[in-house]
Amino acid sequence: MESLPRVFVGADQMHFTTSDGRKVIDGISSLWCVGAGHNRREINEAIKKQLDTLDYSTAFQFGNDRAFEAAQMIADLCPSDLNRVLFTNSGSEAVDTAMKVALAYHRARGEGHRTVFVGREKAYHGVGFGGMSVGGIPANRKAFGSALLPRVDHLRFPHDSVNHAYIHNAEPVWAEVQFNELMNELESRIIPLHDASNIAAVMVEPVQGSAGWYIPPKGYIKRLREMCDKHGILLIFDEVITGFGRMGTSFGADFYDVVPDMLTFAKCVTNGVQPLGGVVCREFLYDTIVSPSTANAATEHAIEFFHGYTYSGHPVACAAAVATLKLLKDEDLFASANKRGQYLSEALHAACTGLSHVVGIRTLGLAGAVELSSIPGLAGKRAYNVFVDCFAQGVLVRSAGENLVLCPPYVVSEAQIDEMVAVLAGAIKRAM
Ligand code: PLP
Repeated sequence: MESLPRVFVGADQMHFTTSDGRKVIDGISSLWCVGAGHNRREINEAIKKQLDTLDYSTAFQFGNDRAFEAAQMIADLCPSDLNRVLFTNSGSEAVDTAMKVALAYHRARGEGHRTVFVGREKAYHGVGFGGMSVGGIPANRKAFGSALLPRVDHLRFPHDSVNHAYIHNAEPVWAEVQFNELMNELESRIIPLHDASNIAAVMVEPVQGSAGWYIPPKGYIKRLREMCDKHGILLIFDEVITGFGRMGTSFGADFYDVVPDMLTFAKCVTNGVQPLGGVVCREFLYDTIVSPSTANAATEHAIEFFHGYTYSGHPVACAAAVATLKLLKDEDLFASANKRGQYLSEALHAACTGLSHVVGIRTLGLAGAVELSSIPGLAGKRAYNVFVDCFAQGVLVRSAGENLVLCPPYVVSEAQIDEMVAVLAGAIKRAM
């Protein structure tokens, strides 16, 4: 660590400067955040201007113009009537907020018994108690087991490492029998166990990002929607990673052409520059919760939904969001992500297929993962060693379990993708 300090002191476009003066290319958009690249003048200027205009104002019983502007821009990007935005400061808070909206909605319509949440194995939904509980990454849960929410179940991990270890920028098409077996789990195990009338919501990441870019089979997301509709269960997409262009579309919802009842966002909404997250709800959720005829109806002086953060809709964070969303649009960066994603896919498969230790490669949108076999008794160590080696060679990749993930900013060039992939392949070749 001392010989190779992992301390950044500067960033510009695709590169960091480290405290020992090295240039490191950002192959992971700083944890899926920096879609437009680092140090964007337009965003920085908007933040400075906002500080000089309205630095901060409370969100309790008041709003601010920048929060409304950001909310409108986000709603305009969302499909269908997903247009009611609740701001938070992070993805974890967005997830817990969405879960609370689900409970409040069911209660308002007289179904307060719907309190069960359904997540998935290996899902990541942040580190709040709601997100940890619905999440399915064992390491994130094991120390907190006794305090996790009690009424949560998990769907099977939707990845087939035997028949679909290699996914080449397309949704994997599973054999019908296998697909039906996967999809029937909700109706054959989970619903009979809890009863549909007790289930509040199913929450999924359209593509499982933090676990290592695991892509569901073709038809999976649509079928989930159909089953949730059939049983009156809300469907929540956690789009903290897949939102704002990563899949070459505004949201994963657009990629899969499925409208969830709520979607959560964070990260790329401000290019990572300011902390901001949120939940976008469909109109019926908002209308039900604030409707005068419902159980928790507001009187003039009262509050409809007892939830909010001191910094919800912070004007400076929202100014960053407005500038970021404008930049993403003006530079057509979702289309760039789509195009560069195809290039990354070709490059990663060409360079890493057949290397020793490689047991799978998955690409979709502007992201890809190379999965390595694990060292017996040392889970994750081989991938970690490759991550350290890449960093020494000037490329920031992410190790997630046994995976090495690349998810560069949308402004990455083809030459930069070549450089990242070559360094990654070289480090895998050297790995013991
Ligand atoms: N949900 C998903 C899908 C995420 O990938 C993450 C973070 O990576 C979160 C929630 C948590 O976001 P945050 O770290 O901003 O709390």
